[in-house]
Amino acid sequence: MKPVGPIPAGYEALGGELAIGGKRASEWVAEAGRTPLFVYSRALLDARMASLRAALPSRIGVNYAVKANPHPAVIAHMAPLVDGFDIASSGELAMCAAAGIDPARISFAGPGKRDEELEAAIAAGVTLNCESEGEGARALAIGQRLGKPPRIAVRVNPSFVMTGSGMKMGGGAKQFGVDAERVPALAKHLIAEGAEWRGLHIFTGSQTLGAEAIIEAQTNVLTLAAELAEAIGEPLPKLNMGGGLGIPYFPGDTPVDLPRVGAALAERVVDLPAVLQGTELCMELGRYLVGEAGVYLARIIDRKESQGTTFLVTDGGLHHQLAASGNFGTVVRRNYPSAIATRYTEEATEEVSIVGCLCTPLDRIADNAMMPRAEVGDLVAVFCAGAYGATASPSAFLGHGPAAEMLV
Ligand SMILES: *Cc1c(COP(=O)(O)O)cnc(C)c1O
Repeated sequence: MKPVGPIPAGYEALGGELAIGGKRASEWVAEAGRTPLFVYSRALLDARMASLRAALPSRIGVNYAVKANPHPAVIAHMAPLVDGFDIASSGELAMCAAAGIDPARISFAGPGKRDEELEAAIAAGVTLNCESEGEGARALAIGQRLGKPPRIAVRVNPSFVMTGSGMKMGGGAKQFGVDAERVPALAKHLIAEGAEWRGLHIFTGSQTLGAEAIIEAQTNVLTLAAELAEAIGEPLPKLNMGGGLGIPYFPGDTPVDLPRVGAALAERVVDLPAVLQGTELCMELGRYLVGEAGVYLARIIDRKESQGTTFLVTDGGLHHQLAASGNFGTVVRRNYPSAIATRYTEEATEEVSIVGCLCTPLDRIADNAMMPRAEVGDLVAVFCAGAYGATASPSAFLGHGPAAEMLV
């Protein structure tokens, strides 16, 4: 038997079924008209933002990293709740524009920005988080051609990493950002060439649950930002401090101690080095804002036995839930939080392996998990599906097509 991950707070039972946003899972499926289906909860998005605002000093803004979940209704729902949006492509820029988001609230990071993408961003007045000297030069040239100074921040590749981070995106040789020691020269050059100086972006890692590691990274980021601002010799208009707050996916994972992170940050911001005192500060968060607010629902199509193992075969799978299948940056496969949604309150009495419908042994949802006895027609729920699900999975693989999505 293998345990499944912890079901996030905020989910309830109604008539013996999993309820999301006050309605039973089967009612949402009936409304959508099909499975598989992602259901994202407004109430849970709101609750997460409220707890974050309560814990963080008001000085710290919150940006939403759109790549975690770019569903149009989710972007629109987040618009009044967050201070800014972080995008990583002109496609995401178009999605934010469609949601009516003011480009002045958007910053654009990511390596390999094409000229057309730089042009769209500069024309709209989006801040570019510059990833290299070459990109900076292209942005200046495009700005000149458009007669519009580009708004530019420099993304820093710091020499430290966030310890305990699930995905390291700084420290050592990286395709992200500019090595810290080269940042002052680049920033001075961009400013001298007429760019609108927007400050620094320092992202140190992702999916970190330990408060100490987050606090340490934030301290290091503030120290580095102050050193770089001194070396640049200009006040820093803005500092994007990165984020990295994780969510519990696996057995034994525990939520980030947010009050502790907030309290440490409150101490830092009253004691900022002089050069950062007028700097606008923000964090950028993806999965922490939206991950736990989403559930993926798939229907059991077949129930079969093989050599003593019971398989529940669903109409979902890794084409929508690559991360839950264990094939998106994990070394050892572990079970995501999952349940039989239509028998949510029944006792777990049998060990089953829940799989998807793709013709590959990689397509697994829960291995050797204890579940209530389920039959063909029952619904399986995979939690923590609000981030890196629908758009971070190969939905064209094997031709089953994308899942339905709804914000409720
Ligand atoms: C992916 C990414 C994020 C969001 O990461 P989460 O783990 O979802 O919070 C934030 N900033 C940058 C630069 C990213 O690349």
